[in-house]
Amino acid sequence: MNRMKKINIAVDGFSSCGKSTIAKGLAKKLDYTYIDSGAMYRAVALHAIRNGWITETEIDEMSLQQGISDIKIAFKTNNLRHQETYLNGENVEKKIRTLEVANGASRVSAIGFVRKELVRQQQEMGRKKGVVMDGRDIGTVVFPDAELKIFLTALPEVRAKRRFDEMTAKGENLLFEEVLANVKERDERDTTRAESPLYKADDAIELDNSEFTVEEQLQFVVDLLIRLFGDLTNNQINESTTIYD
Ligand code: C5P
Repeated sequence: MNRMKKINIAVDGFSSCGKSTIAKGLAKKLDYTYIDSGAMYRAVALHAIRNGWITETEIDEMSLQQGISDIKIAFKTNNLRHQETYLNGENVEKKIRTLEVANGASRVSAIGFVRKELVRQQQEMGRKKGVVMDGRDIGTVVFPDAELKIFLTALPEVRAKRRFDEMTAKGENLLFEEVLANVKERDERDTTRAESPLYKADDAIELDNSEFTVEEQLQFVVDLLIRLFGDLTNNQINESTTIYD
């Protein structure tokens, strides 16, 4: 019986596509480990900012390269079952979610040696399988052999509206056009950078979620898992339904 066999699932796509919502939902259903690869780039950026290696205009790549092996990133689940990011033993989950760190992450993620080191760590995390990882290059570079690859897309206007609603709900005062421009700018940067640009792996299943609710998307992927992995997935899904319902 191959009931215990586990697979790796890659969830890639553009910014603000809801990748983490789907990846976390899947991990919960399957009782797998969710890994937010973007959080790792954010942690590197935070470390670099703290050390003065990133300024408005420049990155001190030499210091970053020398210091990168001192950056230890880990994930731990808190008592609310939410995963949090740790940088050298410190819980930095909140600190990496600022706009400054997001911008830093976007910049350090274009540097080859940073990607090489983080990809190495990500591959190590997935060595034993049972991982759902979201990002930009998971199905293409990190886990080219992932058994299931999902590529999420949504119209830029839809993604900008989701972000705009999220940010205004937090009390931020901005224009929709501003958010839309930012979404398009990040799409451009993600897809055109020289190092591991964002693109859909040939064997990834594309899901345009412009008009889908989260539940509908999860159901779509669960149906897909059942179709592709038959009994194995049935067992896993039944198990997790029992655990989480
Ligand atoms: O997904 P998130 O916005 O947290 O990612 C932070 C930054 O890291 C983004 O700018 C994204 O381009 C980059 N990133 C990446 N490769 C990944 C995950 C994130 O280049 N696998």
